Amino acid sequence: MLHFAALFREVQSMSETGFVQDLIDQDDDFDQWYVDVIRKAELADDSPVRGCKVVRPYGWTLWENIVAKLDARIKETGVENASFPLFIPQSMLAQEAAHIEGFAPEVAWVTRGGGKELEEPWAVRPTSEAIICPMYAKWVQSYRDLPILINQWGNVVRWEERPRAFLRTLEFFWQEGHTCHATLEEADERSRQMLSVYQRFLEDDLAIPVVPGRKSESEKFAGALHTYTVEAMMGGKHWALQSGTSHNLGDHFGKVFNIRFLDRDGERKFAFNTSWGLSHRVVGATIMVHGDDSGLKLPPKVAPVQVMVVPIWRKESDLATIEAAVDRIKASLGKVARVKVDWRDDRSAGFKFNEWELKGVPLRLEIGPRDVAADQAVLVRRDTREKITVSSNALAATVETLLTEIQANLYASATQMLHDNTAEVGTYEELANRAATNAGWSLAHWCGDAACEAKIKAETKATTRCIPFDQDMENGSCIACGNPSQQRVIFARAY
Ligand SMILES: [Zn+2]
Repeated sequence: MLHFAALFREVQSMSETGFVQDLIDQDDDFDQWYVDVIRKAELADDSPVRGCKVVRPYGWTLWENIVAKLDARIKETGVENASFPLFIPQSMLAQEAAHIEGFAPEVAWVTRGGGKELEEPWAVRPTSEAIICPMYAKWVQSYRDLPILINQWGNVVRWEERPRAFLRTLEFFWQEGHTCHATLEEADERSRQMLSVYQRFLEDDLAIPVVPGRKSESEKFAGALHTYTVEAMMGGKHWALQSGTSHNLGDHFGKVFNIRFLDRDGERKFAFNTSWGLSHRVVGATIMVHGDDSGLKLPPKVAPVQVMVVPIWRKESDLATIEAAVDRIKASLGKVARVKVDWRDDRSAGFKFNEWELKGVPLRLEIGPRDVAADQAVLVRRDTREKITVSSNALAATVETLLTEIQANLYASATQMLHDNTAEVGTYEELANRAATNAGWSLAHWCGDAACEAKIKAETKATTRCIPFDQDMENGSCIACGNPSQQRVIFARAY
């Protein structure tokens, strides 16, 4: 028995030291840090299916919290949820030429079902315009049937050659909204409205500042008139992540799928459409924007656990007292926060501290016999590591205040990072140098010519992320060809 006990302690101490050491520093290898932190924080795991990941309960709960926040914001604008088929027959997907051409390399096809060849292959939806628009054509007869405001939460498949958990996986989870309108103006207004919903959600709920703007012609959605985007800067290499897009599809899809309505003036017209999507890439963004060398830092508003209680006791005789105190804490905090208690007795307090830090829990609450005697508890902030001793009767109010402060602090830090790593550049060399050294985003004049954009992309790997809405027109010359330009564009490397 003694032998086993000694062996157990040894194994335990090995795994305890290994626990922290396994996470590489961000500065040494940010991509490896990202892979490590996802695995060690138990957000996701590799699956036997190439390119597909398994999202584990901790990661899925984070996603569920994200879904709940965004879903409420979407519904506030009058949109309702519905569900459309996972499969799209080839002939329907092929109806819109640019659309099928844009997605063709990424589409997975089902060719057999029920034991025999299908008459025509079915695509596993890469996005759902081609299955939703024909339904709108059926449902829309008159201007009274408009607008249609529908959102769908679901999964789609796009064949990815270089998968990365949450950022690029073969199958991914998202929402896609699809609306149908009587006028182009109304469709444009709706597509911009949904982009601002994304912006508020990312900034207020995920504490990720974004730059809203318009995509260039070459970067826009296949078949869209305009694509609007919110771009976020990640930590580490300061690359960009397209975090949500909204498309004004014009009447293009209306014409292709024959969505026609009788207008007030007695004329039959084609309807105008929008579509907009935000995926679980934002989980990747949350990891990369806020995380540090010790692991995740989850924004309190979406953190699966907001306060992790770590009871500390040595003597068995203290346990009953601690249990009673923890029950009182749970009762008082349960109303203001998502609280869990780590009662594991095969792990040291130090191990638990490291683990919940790694998992990004915003607040840790430590309580031992001396705290119980003094009618207090110790709170430790994940973002600043500040330790605060709080008397029991002030606990709930303090936790509520601290969670708000942590949320605001994460947003402030991320905003500072975006500001510190964005610069206006005047020469091509400057842009190329910034891209090569991961110095951050470059705001540069661009004439609008796709050839200049392609040259910059080929030579520096930096792409046009967006033409920011919020900028003053100024006269300049294109960074690639020298032709006149009136506006600056964000060039950055992107995930
Ligand atoms: Zn140019």
